[in-house]
Amino acid sequence: MIELENISVTYDNGVRALKDVSLKINDGEFAFVVGESGAGKSTLIKLLIRDVKADDRADEKPVLNVNGFDLIKLRKKDVPLLRRTIGFVFQDYKLIESMNVYDNVAFVLRSIDASARYIRRRVPQVIGLLGLQNKIKCFPNELSGGEQQRVAIARALVNNPQLIIADEPTGNLDPRTSVEIVNMLKQINERGTTVLIVTHEHALVKHMGGRLINIRKGEISFDQYI
Ligand code: ADP
Repeated sequence: MIELENISVTYDNGVRALKDVSLKINDGEFAFVVGESGAGKSTLIKLLIRDVKADDRADEKPVLNVNGFDLIKLRKKDVPLLRRTIGFVFQDYKLIESMNVYDNVAFVLRSIDASARYIRRRVPQVIGLLGLQNKIKCFPNELSGGEQQRVAIARALVNNPQLIIADEPTGNLDPRTSVEIVNMLKQINERGTTVLIVTHEHALVKHMGGRLINIRKGEISFDQYI
């Protein structure tokens, strides 16, 4: 669950990127976050992964909980534990070019010392879920943009995160592939993972429907199911 109450973020240069934001996203939700460039979307994401901190305010008690972690009190050494509960999908996929599909996905589990047996079982499972079983030995440069993004989603999913945050996941894709990718995220959501998609593609949001959170000048200007 994501819970923000009275959260503001002010950067060192004095820019107040988020202003008194209150927001609750329950486990299992599927939500879009939209807003113009500079509205505060990236700041919100950075806040959720503790890349930026909420302002420390004496007047109102800020609340910031993500997946059971209290981010107001979270110690630096515990930040990796928080981040393990979140899977990320980026606009530019961020795959490792020198690794094939299997290894790009397995890499996540290897880096947290999962057992070899679990890796052998889990990696083909998620790759299959994303419909990539025939591409398992391919390298990123042998895949289309949509396929690369599916590998990125498999990678985000492999560690069973509670929450997937997709930051402009369709920014480099054509409209048809964009719908396909968002549909995949929707299917993952239907299996229980909370999904948050940051996008500026209003047409896609309208097509999909769901919860729409609009950020405008650091404030939530609209939050409804459409
Ligand atoms: P969006 O992701 O919606 O484009 P951002 O969260 O990146 O918006 O930015 C919100 C505001 O905060 C903007 O005015 C931006 O210039 C400012 N900002 C973002 N990052 C920083 C930073 N590291 N230092 C100072 N100001 C920043």
